[in-house]
Amino acid sequence: MRGGSASVVLTALLATALGWAAVPTRDLVVVRGGSTLSVPVEGQRGYPAARALALAQALGYTWTGEVLNVDGEQVRFVSGSPFFRVGADVFQLPNPAYRSGSHLMVPVSWALEWLPQWRPRRWRYLDGRLVERPRTTPRPPERDSWLVVIDPGHGGRDPGAIGVRGTKEKDITLAVARRLAEQLRREPGYQVVLTRDRDTLITLADRPRVPQLKGVENPPDLFLSIHCNSMPRKPNNTRGFETYFLAVAKTEEARRVALRENASLRFESDTPISDVDPLQFILSDLQSTANLRESNLFAGFIDRSVQATLRSPSLGVRQAGFVVLVGAAMPAALVEVGYLSNKDEERLLRSPSHQAKIADALADAVVNYLLDYGRRVWSSYSTGG
Ligand SMILES: [Zn+2]
Repeated sequence: MRGGSASVVLTALLATALGWAAVPTRDLVVVRGGSTLSVPVEGQRGYPAARALALAQALGYTWTGEVLNVDGEQVRFVSGSPFFRVGADVFQLPNPAYRSGSHLMVPVSWALEWLPQWRPRRWRYLDGRLVERPRTTPRPPERDSWLVVIDPGHGGRDPGAIGVRGTKEKDITLAVARRLAEQLRREPGYQVVLTRDRDTLITLADRPRVPQLKGVENPPDLFLSIHCNSMPRKPNNTRGFETYFLAVAKTEEARRVALRENASLRFESDTPISDVDPLQFILSDLQSTANLRESNLFAGFIDRSVQATLRSPSLGVRQAGFVVLVGAAMPAALVEVGYLSNKDEERLLRSPSHQAKIADALADAVVNYLLDYGRRVWSSYSTGG
């Protein structure tokens, strides 16, 4: 499962996303008051930016040529500087505002990333768009519906890791995912979508979008990808489970696991890397930043729940750059439920009773995390923000 190709692919992706090369333009979409508005975006400086005037109009604010008036507060950008002021406060963007002809160009990250954090009751970032929240009573913490996406790793011509006795990772992940879906569907108000429910290959980029592709209207609340680990040489004594959320890999070991899982890109011959839209990649990246804290919390719930249920040792919560988590517009985690390169653990992973135990532990983690999330969202609504 290892190989140089995966690291080359990742480096290429990052170089395109972070480099200074011109970025293809794509409109910034604002959904406000029931209408969908497009703001033209340009990428001459290597990052997406929009005219302050057009941005103000789409958001329902006013632009005086000098300042953006937002609900009575003045937002002041400076050409050539990443800093901007709101009243007496100074904030920083990843990139500078700049002048293009007579227009002031504002980095799109101001609208997509900063604004929803500053005005969370009015704006949120959803599926690459800035969406105004309906002005209605907020949902209670005990929500009447949650949509959970469960992603069995690999499938089809991508077997994933191969165990000491030839067990294929794709079969274990599907078995565990099916049981988990069954468990969660028994919970009142839970809707579950499996990214695959048979032995087929779904591209990594498509996995978080499966509900959308299937025509499910609600945005998903949670994404959980299920995998089995493996050491480069087998048999190997290393055993245990570990939980990941998306971020830059912190340890060599976390990087190794991410590279192995990202190697699935090799099987996606119908998705040449040149087709990955750099702007979309940057937007996904912004979105992941907003979800990073929640994803980390969710990973913690998984780790505690699996530790409490299984006798398998926890190797902890780690962070790494998994391609499958990049496109997730929701809190997302990836769990490696055990090592197929360990003889005993491979035997356990094949057993239906152990698979059921893993599914139980994961179901508990999902339910408890969403309960906690609901409570926190409720308290942020009632204290304002
Ligand atoms: Zn895997």
